[in-house]
Amino acid sequence: MADCLFCKIARREIPAALVYEDERVIAFNDINPQAPTHVLVVPKEHHANVAHLSADAPETLVQLFESIRAVADSEGLGDRFRLVFNTGPEAGQSVFHVHAHVLGGRPMGWPPG
Ligand code: AMP
Ligand code: ZN
Repeated sequence: MADCLFCKIARREIPAALVYEDERVIAFNDINPQAPTHVLVVPKEHHANVAHLSADAPETLVQLFESIRAVADSEGLGDRFRLVFNTGPEAGQSVFHVHAHVLGGRPMGWPPG
């Protein structure tokens, strides 16, 4: 996907504050953080959203969740974080390359906005 922002970050064509990388996944700080820790965990392979990812590449979905756990540990969140996949514009998705928001470091309200 030539024009996809997160494909470009994964290819290192656009800089980002990386916190984690492995063969299939990259993670970087959100440019507009909503919590003291706000990391985006992104498969390098392009899929539009988590529904497409789970249908088309379930093995990548499993690896994404393993990476999420690694990021939560390395960020010191352990098992105290919120995981968000905005899916579709009505749910607030603005970048149409699947990404997990890992948010932590403050109490979280419910319901979300
Ligand atoms: P969403 O709205 O769920 O699609 O999430 C997209 C997220 O990407 C937002 O939280 C943005 O703040 C974040 N974002 C946009 N551009 C960048 C960038 N260049 N580097 C890091 N985060 C970004
Ligand atoms: Zn992409």
